[in-house]
Parts: sequence; C-alpha cells; structure tokens
Amino acid sequence: MMIPKVIHPIVFTHMGMYDLGRRQNMRKKPVRAGKGNTLNNRNYQRELDNLIENIKKEEKTPTLFLHSCCAPCSSYVLEYLSEYFEITVFFYNPNISFREEYVKRAGELRRMTEEMNFRHPVHVVEGPYEPEKFFRMAKGLEDVPEGGERCFRCYRMRMEEAAKLASEGNFDYFTTTLSISPLKNAPKINEIGEELGEIYGVSHLPSDFKKKNGYKRSIELSCEYGLYRQNYCGCVFSKKEQEKQRNSGKTL
Ligand code: SF4
Repeated sequence: MMIPKVIHPIVFTHMGMYDLGRRQNMRKKPVRAGKGNTLNNRNYQRELDNLIENIKKEEKTPTLFLHSCCAPCSSYVLEYLSEYFEITVFFYNPNISFREEYVKRAGELRRMTEEMNFRHPVHVVEGPYEPEKFFRMAKGLEDVPEGGERCFRCYRMRMEEAAKLASEGNFDYFTTTLSISPLKNAPKINEIGEELGEIYGVSHLPSDFKKKNGYKRSIELSCEYGLYRQNYCGCVFSKKEQEKQRNSGKTL
C-alpha cells in the first residue's frame, strides 16, 4: 500500500480506511473541459453538467480527490457530487492561522461526513497543519485585500497539494470546494486547477459550485447539521479585515 508521504496517516474516514495508492497503473491523460473557450466567458457549471452527463451515459463511478476548506462549503459539494463520484475529501488548509480554529474546522468536517448519507462512498483524509508554509507564501502580501494576489497564491498552495496527491493516488479527477464562496474567484480557481492538472497529470474537475443555488443550499445544510460557520476566511489578515469592516458597519 502506498500512502503519499506528505499526508499524515489517514485521520478519519467515513467508509473505512482508504488506500490512496490502489489505482496505480490506471493513470489517465488529464482532460481539459471547455476546449476552445477563453477564460472569461466560460461557464464552469455547464462544463461540469456536460461532464456529469457523460459519466451517467458511461455508467461509471469515477474517483474524485476533493480539496475541502471547511464543512459548510463541503456540505453542498458532497451532497451534489457524491451522486456521481467516489470522493476522498482532503482537508488541507495551512492558511488557517490559529490552531484552535483549524482543529474546529477539521472536526466539523469529520462530524458532517459521518452524519450525512451519500450514494457513493465518501472518505476523509487530513493533511498536515503547516501554517508556516502559508506565512512564507504570503510574505509581502499581508496588506493585499481579500480577493487579490495573496488569495490566488493561497488557492494554488492548497490545490497544488491536492493535485499532487490525486496524481500519486491515480484518482480520475481532483478539484476544490473553494468556488462555492461568492468571495472566491471561480475563473481563477479553474485556471489554476487546469494548470496544475497539466503539471501533475490528473484531470481537473471544473467547478463553480455557487451556481444552481449551491451557496444557498450550503447554508441550508449548515443549519440542518448545526455546522460551525466561521465569519472569516482563514488567515489572520482576513480576520483583521473582517473585524475592521464589522467595526465600520460594513459586512463581508
Ligand atoms: S483571505 Fe482566505 S483565500 Fe485569501 S489568503 Fe487569506 S485564507 Fe487565503
């Protein structure tokens, strides 16, 4: 059995232990959805719809390595995609500056996956907690407002770890839950995903999960399962920005 070195031993799983190496020798060429379109006018939800239609026709259950930022964002994504994929949820977020917060978010994800029912198996793995990696990456970008260059690098840092592990584990696809947030840049997330897919030889699953009322559904599911919903993105800079906005009467 091969477990990628960067992953600490599997921490929690909904459907039993998961062998990330069991698909060795089954690697496929990465597939790029939406060929011929330019980044700015692409409809990533429609691309995902088309891809799912093909999966249904083929009557297969592909495997998906899904980077997760937190339980609320993952709730809708899991409800939606577990209908078609066997999913391994990967909690990897060096951007969360405070250990207590990190542990809380990871715990909520574990609890939620244990309580939800899925059509296909959902497994959960937790990567290492390494905030120093985030701070190295964010150096010089501390004052950039949320949604700017620091965030783009932050998406990439987390997605790159997911792409690497998805490739090592011979998953059919990888993607991230990040595009469900109205504050996240879906075209940028997809652009990064496609680039990483090319580098690591694994297909990126296009996403804009806020579409089709995905964000709204994530709030409903958060209420249904009593999930902890944080009021800032994750890093200390986003926390300060959020506090500043709250004090000035604005909300994010
Ligand atoms: S605001 Fe969020 S996405 Fe941006 S750098 Fe901080 S944690 Fe990362």
